[in-house]
Amino acid sequence: MSNVETDPAAVRRGPDADAGPPGAAPRVQVLAPRDVPLGGPRAMTVRRTLPQRARTLIGAWCFADHYGPDDVADTGGMDVAPHPHTGLQTVSWLFGGEIEHRDSLGSHALVRPGELNLMTGGHGISHTEVSTARTTVLHGVQLWVALPREHRDAARDFQHHVPDPVTVDGAELRVFLGSLAGSTSPVATFSPLLGAEIALAPRAAVTLDVDPAFEHGLLVDRGEVRMADTLLHAADLGCLDAGSATLTLVNESDGPARAVLIGGTPFDEEIVMWWNFVGRSHEDIVRARADWQNASDRFGEVGGHPGDRLPAPALPRTALRPRGNPPRRRPGSAEGAP
Ligand code: MN
Repeated sequence: MSNVETDPAAVRRGPDADAGPPGAAPRVQVLAPRDVPLGGPRAMTVRRTLPQRARTLIGAWCFADHYGPDDVADTGGMDVAPHPHTGLQTVSWLFGGEIEHRDSLGSHALVRPGELNLMTGGHGISHTEVSTARTTVLHGVQLWVALPREHRDAARDFQHHVPDPVTVDGAELRVFLGSLAGSTSPVATFSPLLGAEIALAPRAAVTLDVDPAFEHGLLVDRGEVRMADTLLHAADLGCLDAGSATLTLVNESDGPARAVLIGGTPFDEEIVMWWNFVGRSHEDIVRARADWQNASDRFGEVGGHPGDRLPAPALPRTALRPRGNPPRRRPGSAEGAP
């Protein structure tokens, strides 16, 4: 995925959409999506919930795009020409359809439903993502993970993993990163992380043991799902702060529901995220942009795509500022108070 928003965290939304009565705990912060065209000739649109002004990160997860189910005859599907990444990992997870991935490591992989494809940008990588000709409906998520400072220049990498589904109380889970419900992904991460697809039978309720050091996000794909005390609608991202040893999810709809649960220990660094780069400073971004525009070896070469490399957008006139999560506004507290 290539990000056409150059300063996504600056997008203003309305007041914090937190739900729940004052004083009640736990409280879930609800991040509603905004529609973002991916660019390209036919401009497939995604629903983006992270980052936004109210929230930059959930653990090290720094970006969440949700798309489909899209009839590719109408949307044109996905066709992202060569573009770079630095300082992050990309997680592609599909519910339907198929995407062909190529990168400057020489990886050539098909991304299919229920299969993790994890690409490490690290110091620099370039790749292409194209939905295949046999795809009629495209449906999935793309999530980015910020690399911690000591690993942000990691070597480029690509991993594929197919988790075995596990069933608990009417929920079917596919744990693609970290551990949940007795299922552990063998894929190593650079910070403590959780990533899992959770399918819920109609009206199913499941309580999962979770790491109390983790904050969690639930991105609802379909159905109406109660996360702790808060009802989430399809495409919402509910965020629950660290401190809970269990997480209860209830499908409040009469049909099947599905969501992606992400989590991790709070990321205590501020990051600068601009276009497809994660850095720590304005200068990091200026350097990465120049290296891409100058076709530096930093990003390598990716073959097999007929399109031109995506050019980086112009830098803003003012310096990019590092961001962490803004202070949560609590009921009864003065706006802007810590
Ligand atoms: Mn990408």
